[in-house]
Amino acid sequence: TDRLLQKSDKLALVGQMAAGIAHEIRNPLTSIKGFIQLFRANIKKEEYFTIVLTELDRINLIVEEFLVLAKPSASVFKEKDVRSLIHDVVTLINTQSIMTNVQIIVDIERDVPMISCEENQLKQVFINILKNAIEAMPNGGVIELKVKAETGKISIFFIDQGSGIPKERIPSLGEPFYTTKEKGTGLGLMTCFKIVESHNGELKISSELNVGTTIEIVLPTINQPYLNNKVHA
Ligand code: ADP
Ligand code: MG
Repeated sequence: TDRLLQKSDKLALVGQMAAGIAHEIRNPLTSIKGFIQLFRANIKKEEYFTIVLTELDRINLIVEEFLVLAKPSASVFKEKDVRSLIHDVVTLINTQSIMTNVQIIVDIERDVPMISCEENQLKQVFINILKNAIEAMPNGGVIELKVKAETGKISIFFIDQGSGIPKERIPSLGEPFYTTKEKGTGLGLMTCFKIVESHNGELKISSELNVGTTIEIVLPTINQPYLNNKVHA
């Protein structure tokens, strides 16, 4: 895993990432420059403005996805109930899911223990995963979002009925810029892996082509004092 990477490997990774970002941002920048030159030549077609705005949006999206990884200086882990985080995220994403005929069914066990987390980062993880699930179901369907508790940890499952992922592609997931979408950035899952890792958790992906994909996030729970009702003599 990442933790076993040597420092030199990590530096190499940073170099690759920087090259990737530079490449991804250069394309829309070149396009914007071209159209600005057309504007200067007074060829101001309405559709050119639309293209420039779309390209600027793309740069913004790429930068925003990376910014999530740059922890704000005041980043603190707080004790949170995963139930309320999920409630907020589902409310936020419901407008998008309703438009595409996707129903999100939430099923959370009673008495789920608290977790220690950076709330906004973890919400970003849930949003990225739900967005992928919605995008994998262009004709609509159901996403099941389940939370189960085990000793010392909770598991959050996102189960979709989408296109699925070919087995040989699963190892590529989480690599920066790996995308199969025309307008994808290929940064969503990488961000998810990084954030879950910084929470000492695990992200597992299983998928079956034309059946659907399940993403499981395992997170450690906050140590509760052991409440034992039995009285020992
Ligand atoms: P993006 O969504 O911008 O393509 P991501 O990192 O979020 O980037 O996802 C990378 C790729 O993983 C996607 O392009 C898609 O091929 C695949 N993928 C991720 N989640 C799912 C899913 N729920 N169902 C099918 N494919 C998925
Ligand atoms: Mg995505």
